[in-house]
Amino acid sequence: MLKKILIANRGEIACRIMRTARRLGVATVAVYSDADREALHVATADEAVHIGPSPSTESYLRIDRVIAAARATGAEAIHPGYGFLAENADFADACKAAGLVFIGPSGASMRQLGGKAAAKAVARAAGVPVVPGYDGADQTPALLRREADRIGYPVMIKAVAGGGGRGMRLVESGEQFAAALESAQREALSSFGDAAVLIEKVVQQPRHVEVQVFGDRHGNVVHIFERDCSLQRRNQKVIEEAPAPGMSAALREKMCGAAVSLARAVGYEGAGTVEFLVEDGSLGPEAPWYFIEMNTRLQVEHPVTEAITGLDLVEWQLRVASGEPLPLEQGAITMHGHAIEVRLCAEDPAQGFLPSIGRIAAFALPDSAEDVRLETAVRAGDVISPFYDSMIAKLITHGATRDEAADAMVAVLKQLVVAGPRVNAAFLRALLEHADVRVGRMDTGLIGRDLAALTRTHIGNSEVMSAVARLLAPAEGAASDPWSAGDGFQLGAPRTLTVPLVVNGEARTFAATWPRGETTPHVVAAGAAAAGSEARAPTACVTAHDGLYALFEGEQVEVRWPTYDADDVDNGHAGDAVRAPINGKVARIFVKAGDTVAKGDRLAVVEAMKMEHVLAAARDGVVASVAASEGQQVNQGALLVSLEEEAQS
Ligand code: ADP
Ligand code: ADP
Ligand code: MG
Repeated sequence: MLKKILIANRGEIACRIMRTARRLGVATVAVYSDADREALHVATADEAVHIGPSPSTESYLRIDRVIAAARATGAEAIHPGYGFLAENADFADACKAAGLVFIGPSGASMRQLGGKAAAKAVARAAGVPVVPGYDGADQTPALLRREADRIGYPVMIKAVAGGGGRGMRLVESGEQFAAALESAQREALSSFGDAAVLIEKVVQQPRHVEVQVFGDRHGNVVHIFERDCSLQRRNQKVIEEAPAPGMSAALREKMCGAAVSLARAVGYEGAGTVEFLVEDGSLGPEAPWYFIEMNTRLQVEHPVTEAITGLDLVEWQLRVASGEPLPLEQGAITMHGHAIEVRLCAEDPAQGFLPSIGRIAAFALPDSAEDVRLETAVRAGDVISPFYDSMIAKLITHGATRDEAADAMVAVLKQLVVAGPRVNAAFLRALLEHADVRVGRMDTGLIGRDLAALTRTHIGNSEVMSAVARLLAPAEGAASDPWSAGDGFQLGAPRTLTVPLVVNGEARTFAATWPRGETTPHVVAAGAAAAGSEARAPTACVTAHDGLYALFEGEQVEVRWPTYDADDVDNGHAGDAVRAPINGKVARIFVKAGDTVAKGDRLAVVEAMKMEHVLAAARDGVVASVAASEGQQVNQGALLVSLEEEAQS
C-alpha cells in the first residue's frame, strides 16, 4: 500500500479521500489556496502546502505547483478527486514523468475516453450504441450546420472537452443553429480551453443512467451497478440514487456489460463512470439506450454506490494505484436496498439559484439523522467564498426500499440547520416529495418543467413576523423584560413599540405589542391592522451578533438591527444603481458612460461559483457612469453601473 499521498483538491472530496487514507494508515498531504487557509481539508491532512492565490487557475489548476508540493513533502502518489485536474491527461502524464503515481487511469486511456468525441469512437468500435450525431474533427461552421440538418432538429451541441453541463446548447431549428454554435464554442473555449464541439440528436424524455466501473493493472474489469441521475437542472445533477428505479434486469445486464467492454477496450485502470441516456423514461428490457460520455475519475455521487454495496471506492482506488488486484470479483459484488444522495448547495432557488456566500453562522444535522451520511468540508464559522463551486455538502440516506431512503432524506432536510448563506434544502425536499419522483417517473426535463412549483418559497408574512418576534423577545433569564423597564409605560396597558429592522436585506418597520405578562411580542408590519394569521414557529433560531436567523424547514429569514450604513440597505432610487448581486468577478461590462439603454439590456456579467449572472437594465435610461472594470473582483452590493436620474416629469 502507498505510504503517503497528496490530494490535489479541496472541499468535501478532499476530506472524504483523507478519511479512507487515514483508516488504511496512509499519510495525507493537502494543498490549499489563499481562500482555503482555514479550510477543513487543510486541518484534516497530516501536512498542508500553500500553492497560490484563490482563483483556481492560480492554485488548484497549477500542475507545476501541485507536483512541486508532492515532491517537497515526499508524497508517492496524487489523488486528483473530481473537477480541477482530475480529467487532465497532461497532469496524469506529468505525475508519471515526475515519478509520482497518478491515482486514476493513464494519460493514454484518458485521451481515448476523456474527450466526448474520442470516447464515442471507442464505444462504436466496442459495439456500444451511441447517440446518433456528428463527432468529426472538421469544425467548419457550414459543415456543422449541414450535419445538424442531416441529424434533424432538435439537436444538442456539446463541447467535446465539456463537463459540468457547460458548453452545451439545445437547438430547436436550423435558424437558431449559427448563434447557438457560436455561443457554445465561446463557452467551451473559456471553460475548457478547447472550442471543439460535437452534435447529437436530442434523446427524448431521457433517463440519465450511469455505470460505475473499476479496472486494475492485472487486466480485471468489473462494474459496480448503476446510478440514476435523471434529476438535473440545466444538465447538472441535483439528486442521484442507486439502483435506478424501475431498472429491468435485462437492461441492467446490457448496460453494465457495455460499460465493462468499453473499459476493457482501453485497458482501463482505476475508477470510472460510463454515462448513458435511456430514451422515453422507462428502463424496460427493450428501451433504447445510448452511451454519451465517460468520466475517468471518482464521481461526485459515488457514495450511493458505496451505500448499496458496502464497498469503499476510495479504498479500491488506493489499492489499485498500489498495484494490488481488485478486491472482489464480479460475482462477489452484490447490492442491498436503495440509496439517495442530494447535493446541498449555497444558493437561493427562490431567486433563480443565485449563489449565496458569506460566513456560516450555524451548520448542524438533527440528532435524529444518525444514520445519514454527511460529506462536507464546511463548519459553523467558515466563510463560503465565491471562488469555487456552490456545493457545500452531500447527504446520503440508505433504506431497505426507495421510499425509506426518500422519507429519511425528507426528514433530515426539514430539520437541517444551515444559517448564514442560503441553501437549496427546501428545493431538494420539494423534489423528493414530487408525485412523479416518488413513483420513479422521471426524466432529465422534470425539474425544468416544474421549476416554479419546486422553487416556490414558503416564507410569507407569518414567518417574517415570527422571526421578528423572536428577535424582540428578551433572551431567557435576561436582566430586564419590557414590563420592568422604568420608562413611564402604564402598567396594565399593552405596550407597543415601533421597530425599524432589516429583513432579508430590506429595510422594514414593525409594530410590536407585548400582551400583559408575555415576553414574546405580537408583531405586525407598521401601519398594518392587528395580527391576522397565527405566526408559524421556526424549526430553529440562530442568534448572530447583530440579529438572528430563523429557519423554517430549510428556508431562512434573516433579521438584523439596522446599522444605518449607507451601503447596507439599498433603498435608493429604483433602477439608478446596478450593483453586484454577489461577491465575484466582473466578467463583462457591456456599456460605457453616455450609452442609451433600454429596459432589459445587458449591462454587465458577474461571475461567481462558476456561474454567470447577467445584470440587466431595470428601466430605459442613459448610463451615467461605469464604476467597475472587467476582471475586477467585487463585493456584493458594489456599484457597477449607474444610470442618469430620470428627468422629473
Ligand atoms: P459528476 O458527474 O461527478 O456529477 P460533474 O460533471 O457534475 O460530475 O462535475 C463534478 C465536479 O467537477 C463539479 O464540481 C463540476 O463543476 C466540476 N467539473 C466538471 N468538469 C470540469 C472541468 N472540465 N473543469 C473543471 N471542473 C469541472
Ligand atoms: P457533461 O460532461 O457536462 O456531464 P454529458 O454529455 O454527460 O455532459 O451530458 C450532461 C447531461 O446533458 C445529460 O445527463 C443529459 O441530461 C443532457 N444531455 C446530454 N446529451 C444529450 C442528448 N443527446 N439528448 C438529450 N439530453 C442530453
Ligand atoms: Mg456527464
